Amino acid sequence: MIKEILKNIISKTHVIPFPEGFRISPEEAAKGMNFQERIDKVFGRSLRIRQVDAGSCNACEWECTALTNPIYDIQRFGIDFVASPRHADALLVTGPISRQMELALKKTYLATPEPRLVIACGDCAIDGGIYKDSYAVTNGVANVIPVDCYIPGCPPTPVGIILGLQQLLDKLTGE
Ligand code: SF4
Repeated sequence: MIKEILKNIISKTHVIPFPEGFRISPEEAAKGMNFQERIDKVFGRSLRIRQVDAGSCNACEWECTALTNPIYDIQRFGIDFVASPRHADALLVTGPISRQMELALKKTYLATPEPRLVIACGDCAIDGGIYKDSYAVTNGVANVIPVDCYIPGCPPTPVGIILGLQQLLDKLTGE
């Protein structure tokens, strides 16, 4: 089995080429270096994020998970996901905020130490997205807790999420 896997890796027989447009360009990587410097300055070398799924279809979570893989490697910027809001600087919320998740989101927000940041990630989190005006949703994060940054997309790409976080830093540093 191991031999077979190694053979496939070396021969690249089953490797699906990564779409060119989805690579982080050298310019973006350079921005990323600056990104890291600003994270050092604003957050004292690390930005810890608690991801909150508030009724998402899970595609947004897949993209967030991809941020920690070796291609996007968000940890290189000093950013990582944590399991508890008590250890987080920011909440990254996905989904249209279903009525069932409304109270849980408020409690998670209050459990996050101040100054806490809130990122609405994905079209659903912005205004309900494809679930907008359904009886079961609140039409976005801002109708439940204050939002500092919006990242559009259904779902947003990992690069889109990184660029959204850069915009959050721009806002915090006044750039
Ligand atoms: S924005 Fe799109 S991908 Fe994300 S939770 Fe909503 S429907 Fe799913």
